[in-house]
Amino acid sequence: MLDFENVTKRFGTTTAVDGVTLSIPQGQMVGVIGRSGAGKSTLLRMINRLNDSSSGKILFGGREITALKGSDLRRWRNECAMVFQQFNLVGRLQVVTNVMSGRLFQHGFASSMLGLFSARERAFAIRALDRLGMAHAALQQTDTLSGGQQQRVAIARALVQEPKIMLADEPIASLDPLNAKVVMDALRSINQEDGLTVICNLHTLDTARAYCDRIIGMQDGRVVFDGPARALTDSV
Ligand code: ADP
Ligand code: ADP
Repeated sequence: MLDFENVTKRFGTTTAVDGVTLSIPQGQMVGVIGRSGAGKSTLLRMINRLNDSSSGKILFGGREITALKGSDLRRWRNECAMVFQQFNLVGRLQVVTNVMSGRLFQHGFASSMLGLFSARERAFAIRALDRLGMAHAALQQTDTLSGGQQQRVAIARALVQEPKIMLADEPIASLDPLNAKVVMDALRSINQEDGLTVICNLHTLDTARAYCDRIIGMQDGRVVFDGPARALTDSV
């Protein structure tokens, strides 16, 4: 269970997230929707502590995420894998190397910088790519792939972290409809097969309705809708 208890985030005079309280049970696929500037990104980024909250608490399984420091914080960040709108892959590296970088925490930075990923780590990365239908591209240079393919590689990288939560910040906003479908299908099947909690920020209600169990609507930093996807009508 992931719990937000009256969480607020201010940037100077801007209140990006305003007193949010909610609980997300393990295994749920949640779509967060709302206009640009509504606070969706900030909400997600406080979970893995890319942003620190100004007040309130975030807990995971009762543990206070907002209080983690040092190696506990590094471990937690590894446990929440994040997928970004712009993929955040290293374009000049091979696909499999990008995926293995998701194992940095398990593997250690020094050996990975020396290129000493073991055959086992490599096989692990290829298996993750295979789940995303991308194993055939393992040896390609990443920036030769289409956006949809790169996003699948980014999801493979997130998977090899063996995360407890998967966060996706506008994962399909840069993709054409066909690639968007492939990427959302991939996130949904990971959610269903692995029972992994997936929280994704989405621009369109239709996508959230098609893929998510639950929709959280945000406006001006506040939650203005929270319910099962099927309960949401076009008028909301
Ligand atoms: P969304 O993801 O819904 O577009 P954001 O969480 O990115 O919304 O932003 C919410 C509000 O917080 C916006 O007004 C945005 O400009 C502001 N904001 C976000 N990040 C920062 C930042 N690092 N510094 C200052 N203001 C920020
Ligand atoms: P989004 O696509 O989620 O709305 P933005 O384009 O608003 O993202 O923000 C991109 C980056 O800039 C984020 O890291 C965000 O924290 C930061 N940011 C957003 N608004 C501001 C702002 N007003 N001042 C400084 N940084 C900001």
